[in-house]
Amino acid sequence: MSEVKIVVAGPRGNMGKEAVKMVTNTEAFTLIAAVDSKHDGMKLSELDGFHGIDVPIYTDMQQCFEENDIDVLIDLTAPTFGKKHMQIAFENGVRPVVGTTGFTEEDITELRTTAEEKGIGAIIAPNFAIGAILMMKFSQMAAKYLPDVEIIERHHDRKLDAPSGTAVKTAQLISEAREQKAQGHPDETEELAGARGADFEGMRIHSVRLPGLVAHQEVIFGGVGQTLTIRHDSIDRASFMPGVKLAVDAVLQIDTLVYGLEHIVE
Ligand code: NAP
Repeated sequence: MSEVKIVVAGPRGNMGKEAVKMVTNTEAFTLIAAVDSKHDGMKLSELDGFHGIDVPIYTDMQQCFEENDIDVLIDLTAPTFGKKHMQIAFENGVRPVVGTTGFTEEDITELRTTAEEKGIGAIIAPNFAIGAILMMKFSQMAAKYLPDVEIIERHHDRKLDAPSGTAVKTAQLISEAREQKAQGHPDETEELAGARGADFEGMRIHSVRLPGLVAHQEVIFGGVGQTLTIRHDSIDRASFMPGVKLAVDAVLQIDTLVYGLEHIVE
């Protein structure tokens, strides 16, 4: 395929703005339209920060797909919409690349079944930063030798879901490498509810939300007389865009749903 025709959903958001920039700066990609929660019928170029990007805005994704020939949807919206947007994309033969977080395991199973029934590729990546993928892979390696682990994820205070998709994905990868294990003292109590964080198969996940943060995660392993900390920091949302670009290229080559960029990055 010589030119990949793309729609970005959530173009005014922190991630969406970067995605619009990435798509318009990539020679092989063409931005055809944007799906926004507002500004139906306007041009993106009429909004602040999109000078010269003369593509239509739709609030109705179905209408956008009916009126345009689209290959790929890049969805960077809000947790409640990711699944619905993927279903609309599947119905219209459009391949979704989704950074929106908040999917449950059941959602992913259901969406994978639809993707396979329709023979349409799809990628959901809770984290598009290549460094974060390496953090998850290194954590999975370490868990084999140091199975006691706690995850601390830190994000900006406008994030809607907790724990982060990256933290959950990290915990899932770690759980493939170690036996299920309750951590901490068997008789420990919480004097304040939530003090020990969320429990994922005995692993604890702690979510910090503060202004000034972007997306950060520490995976701390404890062993006899030692700790190992694996840490990743996204300090700019541009850090996610090489991964989004990689996913757009990859989604054209597959006919199932891939969950996690680690399955694409070797
Ligand atoms: P954000 O700044 O809040 O932007 C979200 C944008 O989506 C807003 O402009 C919002 O418009 C718009 N929106 C909401 N519902 C929509 C709908 N139904 N249709 C079209 N647009 C809609 O959030 P963000 O920081 O960019 O993050 C977006 C998503 O990506 C979140 O789920 C976040 O967790 C995730 N994320 C993923 C990665 C990754 O690497 N995978 C990295 C960072 C963030 P209004 O403001 O008008 O509602």
